[in-house]
Amino acid sequence: MWFIRDGCGIVFAVVTWFLVLYAEFVVLFVMLIPSGDYMYSAINGIVFSLLAFLALASHCRAMLTDPGAVPKGNATKEFIEILQLTSGQVLYNCPKCCSIKPDRAHHCRVCKRCIRKMDHHCPWINNCVGEKNQKYFVLFTMYVALISLHSLILVVFHFMHCFEEDCSSSSATTMTLLIFLGLEALVFLIFTSAMFGTQMLSICTDETGIEQLKKEDRRWAKKTTWVNLKAVFGHPFSLGWASPFVMPDQGKADPYQHMI
Ligand SMILES: [Zn+2]
Ligand SMILES: [Zn+2]
Repeated sequence: MWFIRDGCGIVFAVVTWFLVLYAEFVVLFVMLIPSGDYMYSAINGIVFSLLAFLALASHCRAMLTDPGAVPKGNATKEFIEILQLTSGQVLYNCPKCCSIKPDRAHHCRVCKRCIRKMDHHCPWINNCVGEKNQKYFVLFTMYVALISLHSLILVVFHFMHCFEEDCSSSSATTMTLLIFLGLEALVFLIFTSAMFGTQMLSICTDETGIEQLKKEDRRWAKKTTWVNLKAVFGHPFSLGWASPFVMPDQGKADPYQHMI
């Protein structure tokens, strides 16, 4: 199983889980259940819990999926001979992990590996975002943005209700929990929706975060937006695009890429 042993990343991943579970607790036990409105509580409770579950499942998949690591130490003379390169073909090798570096792969200092189509290393998921786990990362940002938006709406409704009917009886603890949830939701709504937008843009234009940052020349063929989306979320288009449990079928990989 793929898991990066990085102290800082593990702390961030635990904090992520804590924040989602905190939101779940406040939404259910501080706002919905005490509200006394059965339908309102049931509908919002089910929707919120489902989205929170999908966010945590996407987080696990993003964290525990190999992002597309290139095998270590394969830059040997014997292996290069097996590849039977045609003349003029250039091979790059990474001195840090002693591997043959496929095009568009980058070395990650934290993962200590070369990662195919590396976008960036994300401490929140304690993993790199690369070719094989980008779908899960995008879903994670999307579901966190949705639960943040949902919590924010619920908190605003709760306070609006307080203006109409006196809520001065609610304890200071309840107020603190609600204010903290509102702030958490606002910060993460901005952060994750910005991240979701940037990721979708980089998928549609088929240019990773690192390539944009380094302003690398485009050596790869330009494809349509739809083909680029299917390369990340799977082929053909289905409900599975929104599910962290469906592994995207990325089609037939380049046979040469497959070997290294
Ligand atoms: Zn490397
Ligand atoms: Zn990494």
